[in-house]
Amino acid sequence: MPPPQSPITVAVPKETVSGEIRVALTPTAAALLIKSKLAVVVEAGAGQAAGFNDEAYVAKGAKIASRKEVFSSADILLQVQSSLPSSADMKELKAGCLVIGFCDPLGSPGRMAEMAGTGNSLISMELIPRITRAQSMDALSSQANIAGYKAVVMAAEASPKIFPMLMTAAGTIQAARVFVIGAGVAGLQAISTAKRLGAVVSAFDVRAAVKEQVQSVGAKFVELPVDTAEGSGGYAKEQSAEQQKKQADLMAKVIAESDIVITTAAIPGKPAPKLIPASAVAKMQPGSVIVDLAAQTGGNCELTDPGRTVIKHGVTIIGHQNIPATVPFHASSMYANNLVKLLGIMVDKEGKLTINPKDDVIAGSLVCHGGEVVHARVREILGLKGAVNGAAAAEVKTEAVTLGGTR
Ligand code: NAD
Repeated sequence: MPPPQSPITVAVPKETVSGEIRVALTPTAAALLIKSKLAVVVEAGAGQAAGFNDEAYVAKGAKIASRKEVFSSADILLQVQSSLPSSADMKELKAGCLVIGFCDPLGSPGRMAEMAGTGNSLISMELIPRITRAQSMDALSSQANIAGYKAVVMAAEASPKIFPMLMTAAGTIQAARVFVIGAGVAGLQAISTAKRLGAVVSAFDVRAAVKEQVQSVGAKFVELPVDTAEGSGGYAKEQSAEQQKKQADLMAKVIAESDIVITTAAIPGKPAPKLIPASAVAKMQPGSVIVDLAAQTGGNCELTDPGRTVIKHGVTIIGHQNIPATVPFHASSMYANNLVKLLGIMVDKEGKLTINPKDDVIAGSLVCHGGEVVHARVREILGLKGAVNGAAAAEVKTEAVTLGGTR
């Protein structure tokens, strides 16, 4: 008789990073994993601040447990922001656990090396490749969508003006002018949201492909005579300092004429490009608002104070570093769906988990595996030679590993 099979346990702790009130798994998402023959253990109170109480998880078949039990029972640990690996909690993990979360692999490569040293595997949600097959797993996009929406709501709240044009007996009010810098996922959502509120919206991006997308959501594309900077995977590449200055100079006039500026310009793994110098802020009308969605990587505005809202030259500059967490219910729902889809390519019908570095989604996002940092870009930053993810990985230590049944 074969020994009885015990299901793979997916464990979900409460987030510990300051201000992080999202949760990695919602009750609905937990039910989907349980249907896939996985067991789900959630730390007591983990979803409370996002709008999901313990009873809701239990009703879907999940178990509520202490923090210690969550970490010690995990075969797969799901987090929003992975607190790796120095936290006391992480020491509770059993060997061979797979941790999945946002973990800043390009900004904190040293922590990736430490994590590899624990022998556990790590998938970075920042590194899910931007390929059609992985769209439903793309947490950067799902959270950027939320951030783009909320940036406009925050701007509207901080502005002394209303957004729509109004013709009333008490006079005519002009529509607010909103300028969006960087029209990727967050920027396009910001444009759509500002349009819905009745603003007149314009936008700029260094990627040439964006012009049509901006126009298709009803905004005017601002033409600036700067070189386009198309990178790979849908991202922009870093501009030269000279091009960046030229862009900032050309944009200053548009910024001065705007009531609201929402900036989202980012280059993966690099500090945010500084596109709004203090001199451009000084030329804005008092009461204008800048929401700097790039605050987490330093900000697009020279006067942004990351993590704070400041008023400079009469302009409110919002440098909130975790806007998705201010919409925790829907941000968690979308993130949890991304995780369920990702686990869907790793878990078979019997509930067995296979970490297969030859799968292109796993190859792109697996950072630690088999005791090594295996992601090519992270290895490069760490100055490591040799092993990489993907096809070459099979020749080194990153064979597919299957978990399931008795362990
Ligand atoms: P991002 O957060 O890295 O950057 C935000 C935006 O800032 C980008 O549009 C970028 O071009 C822009 N930017 C960078 N430097 C700038 C500058 N100096 N001035 C103005 N703008 C600047 O990018 P993102 O929003 O996560 O994604 C960018 C694009 O990737 C999306 O618009 C989409 O086309 C593509 N994408 C594809 C997939 C997929 O195929 N599965 C998934 C998600 C996104």
